[in-house]
Amino acid sequence: MADTPEHGDEHRQHETHDTVARSGVSRRGLIIGGGAAVAATALGGVLSGGPASAATLGGRPVAYTKARTNEANRDLLLINGKIHTMDDRASVVDAVRIQGNRIVAVGHDAQQAGGQAERIDLQGRTVVPGLIESHTHFISLANRPGHHVAQWELASNVTEVLAFLAARRPSVPEGEFITAMGAGTPNMFAERRLPTLAEIDAVINDRPVFLYQGGGGPARVNTLGKQFFESVSNPTVTVAEDGSLTGANANAALYHLRIRQTFEDKKRSALDAMAFSAQVGITTVLDQVLPPPNAWVGGIFNPALLEPQPNHALFNLNHYRMYDAWLALHGEGRAFLRLQINFLHNQGNIPELGGLENQLPELKERLRNQFPNFGDDMVRTYGIGEWGAPFAAPSNPTGHAVWLEAQRLIARAGWRNENAQAGSPGNAANIEVVVAAYEQMEAEFGIKHLRWGLQHADHATPEQLARLRALGCGVSTSGFRWLNGQPRADGLPVGPLFPQLVDSGIPLGMHEDGVHIAPHNPWFALHYATTGLNVAGQQINPGQQISRQQALHMYTRGNAWYLGREDELGSIEKGKLADLIVLDKDYFTVSEAAMRTVRPIMTIINGEIVHDTGALGRRGR
Ligand SMILES: [Zn+2]
Repeated sequence: MADTPEHGDEHRQHETHDTVARSGVSRRGLIIGGGAAVAATALGGVLSGGPASAATLGGRPVAYTKARTNEANRDLLLINGKIHTMDDRASVVDAVRIQGNRIVAVGHDAQQAGGQAERIDLQGRTVVPGLIESHTHFISLANRPGHHVAQWELASNVTEVLAFLAARRPSVPEGEFITAMGAGTPNMFAERRLPTLAEIDAVINDRPVFLYQGGGGPARVNTLGKQFFESVSNPTVTVAEDGSLTGANANAALYHLRIRQTFEDKKRSALDAMAFSAQVGITTVLDQVLPPPNAWVGGIFNPALLEPQPNHALFNLNHYRMYDAWLALHGEGRAFLRLQINFLHNQGNIPELGGLENQLPELKERLRNQFPNFGDDMVRTYGIGEWGAPFAAPSNPTGHAVWLEAQRLIARAGWRNENAQAGSPGNAANIEVVVAAYEQMEAEFGIKHLRWGLQHADHATPEQLARLRALGCGVSTSGFRWLNGQPRADGLPVGPLFPQLVDSGIPLGMHEDGVHIAPHNPWFALHYATTGLNVAGQQINPGQQISRQQALHMYTRGNAWYLGREDELGSIEKGKLADLIVLDKDYFTVSEAAMRTVRPIMTIINGEIVHDTGALGRRGR
């Protein structure tokens, strides 16, 4: 795409909506592609080269068309709540009315409006907008092999892990794996380790179980799992007596599960991932892809290397095909979490390709063949993120030249762009490189209208933040240091420096960066931003706390801006899309110790109740 600056984000987005209105197709019925081939090209780029099988279902092409039919009939009136709207006045109201997928009235107006609504008595519960995650690798969760137990990230010790696994057991057919993967490190659990083979056997001895921690293992199995992995070959897998798989064995085991996954299995995992997200209150995710497998050997692209390999870690997936199951569910009207897709490109300098003019082949194809900001209310593409090329400082001249060229290509194409830099206490040099490059791109091409972003930005200086703000940029900062952050010997805060980020006035969101180095659950991050306490209860971010209102603002209004959707998401206001969560505890007054355990008892996405613990006593569903 050789876009001129006036073809920016906002313009394109409005264009999409106008087209929908004119065609008379509901937003949910928007056709993303005319057929599998078109959609595969649009979403995968021409380099995919993969087999068509991934985009077909039982020999039938998957039409990426939304076809939900019941939305017009839905009419909900929620009353007697403490509804924190997160509007500009921080209004708290007691009622909200939803028609179809939109909020049509709040407060007194909601009670007055007519219509046959299902009334839900909130019984004084706290309600907040659906939380938005502005930096996650969520699609990895949606592709997990086995009957995946994402809930294990909510466990604080081995006993709770075992309870979550056991709870899944009744729905798992004989011979099929129960799995739990990703989400962080052993620090998640009080024992700082995974359950042993004997401990897992004690709760599940009639289904194979496979646990795999963080983005690269280690892993652990029960007896049936051990028997399975000891029966496979190409490659063989070695399991220790205590059920642990270390070194290359963890990824080799993952490989054997991945190559046995069917498309239906992936659809089940995608639905499980959506359900888990609703369970913890995240209603929209901005997916940042994954560092894709290296499929370029000697400067030549080999698509076969994108498919599962024994050395692929959990965070390696075919970045052209990993959305297929979700898109198929979307086509069937069954996807219920909002998904926004960035495109990460991970090509640095490839010597065999020669000079700079020949570098970055994948990014160039992406910018030529992909539609940005394209889709509907539930699934849409966005920009380049969390990076367009691996960051390299000027001290690495070759790598830096490629990185800077990537910024130039993205700016010239008129795309939104992101980079990820956290800095460290007293050192924001790499952030400075990014800010200076963005200023250069503004001078060369004009990027102010494109909402470029900086991820993490923990130690960005007020001066750098002011310059970013002047460039129309936004920041998504991190909440994940609660898990692996340690108190520094010099007493300095590990970051993020939340108060100066807030005070800068820059559009500011927050993320967990799940689902490999950190969990998906946003309440961990909200707890960290407001307390500075790590998982062990140590203060690691002294003097850098913000209020609960400010932290929630980042996860709602701030992230809505970061996703380019502040007009339709992030607050409970008339005309916005109906995403909200009813909480089991009052986030604003609950004790610090209990804040990490806040959960929704009901989650509504796009006007639909997608999670309901039954605490409100609703019947007939
Ligand atoms: Zn990330």
